[in-house]
Amino acid sequence: MQIDDKKCVACANCVPVCPMGAIYIDPAVNRATVNLDECVECFTCYRGMSKEHMNPTLVRAVRRVAKWLRFRFDPEPDVCPTDALTPQELTWPRTVRWAFSDPLVPHESTGVHGRGTEEVKTNDVTDRVREGEAGFTIEFGRPGVGVRFRDVQKMTTALAPLPVEFEAKNPVSSLMTDRVTGTLQPDVLDEKVMSAILELKTRVQHVPTVLERVEAVARQVDTIVSIGVATRCDAQGDDQIAPILEREGHVFFRGKTNLGLGRRPQLAAAGSAAAGDRLLPSREPSERRAPR
Ligand code: SF4
Ligand code: SF4
Repeated sequence: MQIDDKKCVACANCVPVCPMGAIYIDPAVNRATVNLDECVECFTCYRGMSKEHMNPTLVRAVRRVAKWLRFRFDPEPDVCPTDALTPQELTWPRTVRWAFSDPLVPHESTGVHGRGTEEVKTNDVTDRVREGEAGFTIEFGRPGVGVRFRDVQKMTTALAPLPVEFEAKNPVSSLMTDRVTGTLQPDVLDEKVMSAILELKTRVQHVPTVLERVEAVARQVDTIVSIGVATRCDAQGDDQIAPILEREGHVFFRGKTNLGLGRRPQLAAAGSAAAGDRLLPSREPSERRAPR
């Protein structure tokens, strides 16, 4: 994002709007300026503020006179009075910032908006995590901190030697040049994004090892790391993960329970359900999406 210095009147309305704190008033030029290294191209400032088209010269003159008379002339707080916020044309690798930070942009690698993944919320139909497996979502950058891919790579390369499998339909995995080593494309490493989610799965018995490695790396990176673990429940609604987490001394709670009401397309086409799947009758695809 850029700010047109011919239009900006330095009202500072856009400064608190930026979740990355990337906008500041430069006293040397008395204009708002974007720190492009910190800007993640989320477009929050551009979309979140109303735009008026007041004459910048007139607004500056009125503000000067008002200041001289010791009162203030400020536009409404959610308005850029002169339409000065100007999206720049983004090229690779800066487009990565936009894809991972603007919730209205679908990720090309997965076709999913936002962070580009449905995680395991649609496990009913995707079958990503099967019995005896544990699915991990390792999230970087939220709330309001952001993350550079250099730090994401510290985690991916630390986890890769363990018995894990990175999720293929995930935007972070799509940036890997080598999914065996967890190495990311070198040209994205310095790019900063609002947040990113790494997904992988392992066998249930390896959960403590993965958690231990995630905790160790989380202490070395310059961002916030959150972790979720998903598994399939048995017929009684119990899971194998909770006892492991308790034993290992982790504080946790069951955040979401997917009831298993989805219908796997391949089984629907065959008109039958596998024994034990207990799939309900047809639901429209639009109803399958689990609440986010
Ligand atoms: S809201 Fe618009 S005019 Fe005010 S400081 Fe920001 S860019 Fe400049
Ligand atoms: S695009 Fe997002 S990160 Fe960049 S200046 Fe605007 S609000 Fe801040």
